[in-house]
Amino acid sequence: MAATKTFGVETIKEAIACGITDIGENKVQELNEKYPYLKNEVKFHFIGHLQTNKVKYIIDKVKLIHSLDSIKLAEEIDKRAKQKSLIIDCLVEINIGGEESKYGIPPEEMHNFVKEMEKYDNIRIRGLMAIAPYLPPEEVRPYFRKMKELFEELKEIKQHNVQVEFLSMGMSNDYWVAVEEGANIVRIGTSIFGQRQYNVEG
Ligand SMILES: *Cc1c(COP(=O)(O)O)cnc(C)c1O
Repeated sequence: MAATKTFGVETIKEAIACGITDIGENKVQELNEKYPYLKNEVKFHFIGHLQTNKVKYIIDKVKLIHSLDSIKLAEEIDKRAKQKSLIIDCLVEINIGGEESKYGIPPEEMHNFVKEMEKYDNIRIRGLMAIAPYLPPEEVRPYFRKMKELFEELKEIKQHNVQVEFLSMGMSNDYWVAVEEGANIVRIGTSIFGQRQYNVEG
């Protein structure tokens, strides 16, 4: 999956011409700006932290939400999905490095969190996502390995709305290690598009 934040529609179209079928955006507004120009050509994923008050703007535009990280967010996704008669595929984001600066459910809480999801009929849990600590690739390997273990544990949970398929981990810095450890979605930005230029004026 191509992580397309900060890149424009024309650049993304070039990537699509090269065979990219899925893109991930991490900001609701940016996704909405690009969506009308790309919706017929590519599937959109949401990969950033999602605020509950913005769920309504993306709920019918995304193939997969990678960043389900709280009960409150699940409640809102479920509510908005019901209103539109949709079932929304979600990955549970795991804070695998236990980092203060990152979102996600602590690994030891995965089971309880997934059990809590049982009452949300319009959410379908499809797997796990992690943003590993930013370390040299070989030092990230143990975190990816732990994610694979959790992924296998998730597969054992028998629940009507759990249908496990995706393990989303690995970015430009470390995607090959992630794949070696079992990732089946990698989220690549820089290695496809080059360095991002953040506009200081916003
Ligand atoms: C930007 C981003 C990526 C891609 O990062 P690169 O290092 O540029 O490959 C992956 N996942 C998330 C959640 C992102 O926001």
